[in-house]
Amino acid sequence: MAIENKVALVTGGSRGIGLGIALALAEAGFTLAICGRRSREKAQSALDAVRLHSERSIYVQANVADGADRADLLLTIEEQFGRLDVLVNNAGIAPRLRADILEAREESFDELIATNLKGPYFLTQAVAAWMIRQRGDDARTQQAIVNISSISATVASVNRGDYCISKAGIAMATRLWAARLAEYGIGVYEVRPGIIESDMTAGVRAKYDALIEGGLLLEKRWGTPQDVGRAVRVLATGELSYATGAVVVVDGGLTLERL
Ligand code: NDP
Repeated sequence: MAIENKVALVTGGSRGIGLGIALALAEAGFTLAICGRRSREKAQSALDAVRLHSERSIYVQANVADGADRADLLLTIEEQFGRLDVLVNNAGIAPRLRADILEAREESFDELIATNLKGPYFLTQAVAAWMIRQRGDDARTQQAIVNISSISATVASVNRGDYCISKAGIAMATRLWAARLAEYGIGVYEVRPGIIESDMTAGVRAKYDALIEGGLLLEKRWGTPQDVGRAVRVLATGELSYATGAVVVVDGGLTLERL
């Protein structure tokens, strides 16, 4: 099936990395459903940008941590388009307060796990069931699920343990779903970004500027939402074949071990 007839859902597609991914997929020809917690009015400019490339695209207000919202989100996509070919689990949050793990609070842990891990895990479960049904009509169709994790899946930061654990969890979720969905030909992948310019990192801009200047990265610049968008596009279009379960690292060499 031509990409022009395919539909991709990008959670948290209203800004930052998610918008970079949505634009990359829209440019490739996908019709987009993007979601976020903010109102439709507040997401309008992002939707307009996506619609420049893919005019039928929609925004749905939905909190991925909420089961009822997730169900409504998929219902809206089904009503609008009748199909879903790609899921990108991108929506995520950093802790409201970076706190030492000796003191960090349980509320923060619960919020991070609900948003960054449990929400995407069960959204994947629901989407996978739909994708399997959809394949009944066309077994050769290309379908993909992409999880946006973080280098925090493996790099320990003791001032945001909740975030690191949520990202380590989503890395395992990728492996689990890749193993479970392989028999249906559905590829499941993890994209693991490093330090990327977005609202999430705006508050630690000066800190990372200094680290980058000091040689933290092999590629001496901030990553951009476009860098991550291009990686997801390769996976969503099926150009990276025979690679289900793959981890695509987009971190400018941050996690490359050196001696
Ligand atoms: P931003 O804070 O800039 O954007 C987050 C996006 O997710 C927004 O669109 C937001 O929309 C949405 N979102 C947040 N919570 C929810 C929710 N509960 N339900 C639905 N949508 C939600 O973050 P980034 O773009 O930087 O991050 C995107 C992903 O990339 C995250 O998973 C993050 O952990 C990961 N990442 C980021 C890195 C970075 O350096 N920036 C590095 C590595 C990984 P709204 O506010 O309307 O809900």
